[in-house]
Amino acid sequence: MKILLVEDSYIERRKVGGYLTDWGLDYVAVGSGTEAIKLLEGPDPPELALLDWLLPGLDGIDVLRRIRKLGHENYIYTVMLTAKTQKRDRLNAMEAGADDYLSKPVDPSELRSRVMVGKRIVELQQSLRFAATHDFLTNLLNRAEILAALEREFSRSGREEKPTTVILADIDHFKRVNDTLGHAAGDEVLKEVARRLKADLRPYDVVGRYGGEEFLVILPGCNLTTGARRADEIRTLVAKGPITTPFGTTSATVSMGVTATVSQRDCSVSEFLREADVSLYAAKKNGRNRVEVFSPAANSTGAGQS
Ligand code: GH3
Ligand code: MG
Ligand code: MG
Ligand code: MG
Repeated sequence: MKILLVEDSYIERRKVGGYLTDWGLDYVAVGSGTEAIKLLEGPDPPELALLDWLLPGLDGIDVLRRIRKLGHENYIYTVMLTAKTQKRDRLNAMEAGADDYLSKPVDPSELRSRVMVGKRIVELQQSLRFAATHDFLTNLLNRAEILAALEREFSRSGREEKPTTVILADIDHFKRVNDTLGHAAGDEVLKEVARRLKADLRPYDVVGRYGGEEFLVILPGCNLTTGARRADEIRTLVAKGPITTPFGTTSATVSMGVTATVSQRDCSVSEFLREADVSLYAAKKNGRNRVEVFSPAANSTGAGQS
């Protein structure tokens, strides 16, 4: 867990930072509200913030309000550190969005207990969020999340005039696995295929479970030519090697439909998905375990050549 310590007094900063280090906690310390906001609004923000109230420029209350307005996907747990002793002041801090407060001078064991509570809340929130956004079986993004990611990438692609490739992958003859080895073996195959789909991806690529044995892979910044090549690499990786389950050994292949956004082409996310689906259908029709690329010209027949 990353902690942000906002404190303008160098001595206090050293002191509180020293405690955190002693307890093996990771923290970043800044001396002003403005610096705090920069970190909180940046990528990979801290999960717990210890905020001094009186700060030059933006004070602790201002920072709290900004944090709560951000509406981060991940909750930021906040503890106000304050020399103010009036109940009314503390209520103000809670109203502005503080989760807890601690009187200054900071007592180390009090601080430690507040941080422990914060850590529990943060971890609970993260596990709830993971469950809400990921598929239970494969741990990939679930359907709603992969579609949201597609919407995001689609509009980013238009804005930045960069291509995005989308791959729709479907396991071939998957029903046979269920029929011969049983549903539990089928589940194991789904997990292993998911793992292989993910193995070759870059940090900014995304993959999700689109349906039963269908997966959606998004490759931001990838044009159709590169996207088709990468799809074929992923396809090869999935097909490579047997899949061992407690119920027997099998193997799996996937068919893939690939399409990409192009700046000149004006279409919606749903049309885009339909293009991937049309190409996937062609891959199935043309023998499975293969990649078919969407071509607008061949759209009327539904078959593109890879
Ligand atoms: P094709 O090559 O044409 O895609 O054939 P297929 O057998 O893969 O396609 P079909 O759509 O006929 O069957 C998909 C099967 O996937 C049927 C369904 O029972 C199975 N399936 C879907 N979700 C799960 C799951 O979570 N676990 C298991 N074990 N099977 C699943
Ligand atoms: Mg201060
Ligand atoms: Mg299917
Ligand atoms: Mg299938």
